Amino acid sequence: MTEEKVKPFKVEEPLRIARLDPTFKDEIMKEPNAELIKYCFQCGTCTGSCIVTRFENNFNPRRIIKAALLGLKELVLSSDVLWICTSVVAVKEGET
Ligand code: SF4
Repeated sequence: MTEEKVKPFKVEEPLRIARLDPTFKDEIMKEPNAELIKYCFQCGTCTGSCIVTRFENNFNPRRIIKAALLGLKELVLSSDVLWICTSVVAVKEGET
């Protein structure tokens, strides 16, 4: 049995401005506690401390946040890596 890997979360370059949704971050910030996304300064602590990144090279929370802030709505919402975050109990309970 082969281990199933998630698809790489890759921002297509060069960025096409027409594909960016500048209102996406505002949509996200309407959710409880999600307004904190605007303070992300890309330090990488979330990625470095996430237990999933130890087992899945294609998972990188910092990149997901950057893509969301850029307005790459389609990429973020269509990616299966997004759902990995919601499956980790430690994050749900604020233990990280
Ligand atoms: S990269 Fe991660 S840990 Fe660093 S500020 Fe952004 S969300 Fe927080």
